[in-house]
Amino acid sequence: MHLDSCVPTHQCADEWLADERPDRPEEACGVFGVYAPGEDVARLTYFGLHALQHRGQESAGIAVADGHTLTVVKSLGLVSQAFKESDLVTLQGHLAIGHTRYSTTGSGNAWENAQPMVSSIGATTIALAHNGNLVNTIELRDALKHRGIRFRSTTDSEVITTLVDHFTQEHSSIRGGIRETMKYIRGAYSVVLMSEEALYAFRDPYGVRPLALGKLGEAWVVASETCGFDIIGAQYVRDVAPGEMIKIGPAGLESEQAVPAEKPSLCVFEFIYFARPDSVLNDCGLYEARMRMGAAMARSAAVDADMVIGVPDSGVPAAVGYAKESGIPYGEGLVKNRYVGRTFISPSQSLRQQGIRLKLNPLRHVIAGKRLIVVDDSIVRGNTSRQLVALLRDAGAAEVHMRITSPPVKWPCFYGIDTDTREQLIAASKSVEEVRDFIGADSLAYLSVPDMFAATRGDAAEYCAACFTGEYPVEIPESVKRGKLGLEPVG
Ligand code: SF4
Repeated sequence: MHLDSCVPTHQCADEWLADERPDRPEEACGVFGVYAPGEDVARLTYFGLHALQHRGQESAGIAVADGHTLTVVKSLGLVSQAFKESDLVTLQGHLAIGHTRYSTTGSGNAWENAQPMVSSIGATTIALAHNGNLVNTIELRDALKHRGIRFRSTTDSEVITTLVDHFTQEHSSIRGGIRETMKYIRGAYSVVLMSEEALYAFRDPYGVRPLALGKLGEAWVVASETCGFDIIGAQYVRDVAPGEMIKIGPAGLESEQAVPAEKPSLCVFEFIYFARPDSVLNDCGLYEARMRMGAAMARSAAVDADMVIGVPDSGVPAAVGYAKESGIPYGEGLVKNRYVGRTFISPSQSLRQQGIRLKLNPLRHVIAGKRLIVVDDSIVRGNTSRQLVALLRDAGAAEVHMRITSPPVKWPCFYGIDTDTREQLIAASKSVEEVRDFIGADSLAYLSVPDMFAATRGDAAEYCAACFTGEYPVEIPESVKRGKLGLEPVG
């Protein structure tokens, strides 16, 4: 399928003016789950969420169960802000799930949108955490509203929770409820769910968002990325397969193909930017993949220069790869102000005008007088790249050659990544030369689509690359294409 025109999916963007939104695609949530009798599951989840913090910084939550009672603690802010030591001491049990949330709008600051979502099904309680974005949320919400169901939040995750609740009652089992729910929901979803007794994980039939399965001794762990395993000493076992549902309980691990797998469509942007460089996706280490992207750029877009620098953090491995391949020395030219979050930037106009300076500081004595190759992961609207080029020139750079380790972003994402509307994507309407002129660089080059796939060492047919190609693997309903979603996508 190919879309000729696209419009925003994010109708709540009125609260978050276009020029205030981050000028890059933003990840939409991290999920974690653990079934580990005898272990401090709340603390394991807490550390797992720390490793997944890059996937969402606006709220965090942990649900723990002990076979009888399910308890949830969730709060706005970073993982380190959301939980106190006393929370972790209180959360006792043998299974847990956790969530870090990114939202596209101001309502990311709404507590009721924080996850895990909780629902009671008769005497049973379930908690659910979701990464991704459904494309048929409106239809499902309308259908459920006609049945008299009221919603507390504006998230598609609550729609999934409500459907599982509904179908669990109909099928008299949570497995049956999840299986039936998966027949109705469309789009991207990697979900962890728990009852008082068991942990469940399920993934959409296209496998758009990642979800990995690991072991910690005899215990089982699931996480959006394998870096969530490393931090607690767990070992990666395999990915949860597209369309698969896993149950982990007293009987051990049980797996079933809940819905037939479709064409595999893992988000290729995970390789470029979203996932952490120490994670492994499709048996591919992301640090190495990013180095290969940089090396490919050195071959396809060589330029005479004195130093290669990377834009922290995701541009750094690619810059190292570029430098190695080209023989031009690698240097650190930018230092990141690590703990500046956009939540705290947005209220003050004067601070906003500082723009990129709030996040990056150039090392003047390193770059002054040098011809720089600057490696970055993507250009969305172009404003950040423009500020970056100006920042480097102000710091004395003699030349600035931008090398972007993704193809031009020309299409919006409907599967849980916060990209802009098509009109706001600079590469959708401008040529490479026009973009170069806009950002003020001496030269500009993008990674080609074939080089991008080659760097993943995977089969091009197994990825979603719709934001570069416009080829959407999961059909987008017309109402969504027309921007009639009516709620924000969250993960
Ligand atoms: S459209 Fe782009 S960002 Fe969205 S899932 Fe596909 S590759 Fe990832």
